[in-house]
Amino acid sequence: MTDALGYAATNADTPLAPFRFERRTPGPQDVQIDILYCGVCHSDLHTARNEWNNTLYPSVPGHEIVGRVSAVGSQVGRFKVGDIAGVGCMVDSCQSCASCSDGLEQYCENGFTGTYNGPVAGGENTYGGYSSKIVVDEKFVLRISHTENLAAVAPLLCAGITTYSPLRQWKVGPGQKVGVVGLGGLGHMAVKIANAMGARVVLFTTSPDKKQDALRLGASEVVVSKNQDEMDAHRDSFDFILNTVAAPHNLDAFMALLKRDATMTLVGAPATPHPSPDVFGLIFRRRRLAGSLIGGIAETQEMLDFCAKHGIVSDIEMISMEQINEAYERMLKSDVKYRFVIDMATLQPA
Ligand code: NAP
Ligand code: ZN
Repeated sequence: MTDALGYAATNADTPLAPFRFERRTPGPQDVQIDILYCGVCHSDLHTARNEWNNTLYPSVPGHEIVGRVSAVGSQVGRFKVGDIAGVGCMVDSCQSCASCSDGLEQYCENGFTGTYNGPVAGGENTYGGYSSKIVVDEKFVLRISHTENLAAVAPLLCAGITTYSPLRQWKVGPGQKVGVVGLGGLGHMAVKIANAMGARVVLFTTSPDKKQDALRLGASEVVVSKNQDEMDAHRDSFDFILNTVAAPHNLDAFMALLKRDATMTLVGAPATPHPSPDVFGLIFRRRRLAGSLIGGIAETQEMLDFCAKHGIVSDIEMISMEQINEAYERMLKSDVKYRFVIDMATLQPA
């Protein structure tokens, strides 16, 4: 075993604080990574505060990890000591079910192992990226081809793939009108990526002061979703809508904007259910409401390479490890442009 230092929540109500623990000694197929940067996802907050009622404590969140390889097992072929590498939301899966065989480890029928909060199918807890180092099976380690601004690459490992995967699945491309709901960590990546895929992007926000940013990030138009006249102007017009909102809200307001046969996909995972959808809105236009979970490892690599090719990174605000609790409060107020990233060099023992 090897000593590691992290930041953990010990229950739902107290702030995260320094935490000492051990990582496994790298096995033959393992890569050990000294973590340089870790993005702060809203899922970290949902988990630290047990908002999904499944948190195992102590909980060390963080699944947007970029670091430097510090050791490799004897059978590791794709990484060597000194390489820059990434880890996203998963560190293992069964590798034998139909979903794993299709490269869709996030839908592993036996339950993938999350980077934090343990295996879905039971077993020991796992500790995530708010820490000094991590040891991961090579299959779940990503190559980073960006050569600079590595802190801003970290959020691609969750916010990037969670938006890229549905945009690809629903074949977003040139000639399409695509809506993105919510300009947070996921939403701002969705705007950049959908724009790079050639779609015309309309951003829906509850924060009128984000309008200029959305246009700069690649939206062609910004709609304040609380303004009914602005919403009505877009009825029956969207080919696809990606909804990234982290709180329960009325989905029908957006479903009404879809064309016949078009889909709105939810990636936001609020703690309590949405008060919708309206069945008549669905059946009179054969509209579809769908969901999507992160993305498989091969697709995550494809997304990283796509973003490197198109010069896409996240817009970040760097914080020190001890600022994490304050960052959570600001995230709840939608006061982040547009992803907090922890500089892991600031991680100090208590
Ligand atoms: P975030 O940075 O906090 O962004 C969420 C955005 O939602 C906010 O910036 C805000 O945008 C909007 N919003 C917040 N409260 C709202 C409300 N009451 N009504 C309407 N809009 C509201 O969060 P994130 O990290 O992007 O994560 C978003 C959600 O996706 C979270 O629930 C997270 O757990 C989930 N998630 C899911 C997956 C997956 O695989 N499906 C992966 C990662 C994260 P505006 O200010 O523009 O309105
Ligand atoms: Zn995430």
